Amino acid sequence: MDAFDPLPPPWTKTATHALEFCCPSCRAEAATAQRVWINRRAPVIRETSRRRQWQEFYQCECGQVWWAWSSDRPPSELTKRDNLFPEDLE
Ligand SMILES: [Zn+2]
Repeated sequence: MDAFDPLPPPWTKTATHALEFCCPSCRAEAATAQRVWINRRAPVIRETSRRRQWQEFYQCECGQVWWAWSSDRPPSELTKRDNLFPEDLE
């Protein structure tokens, strides 16, 4: 699996938008997800912060597929996964 694959993997098609940065079914953290895919091809500039954000897709252990904006990822999570998800990849 490549989280930065340019093409969306088939499993992302059924994703639900999670309003909080965790699984909407069982509330498991993103860190426990079985699969991850980052939609790097379509960053969005957020008006308020002028920072880029993108969709992050996760497949939870419970089977739920969900996505959330990268900007909604909690800071603690960001620190832990900094190497995996560099905030500003040029
Ligand atoms: Zn879950």
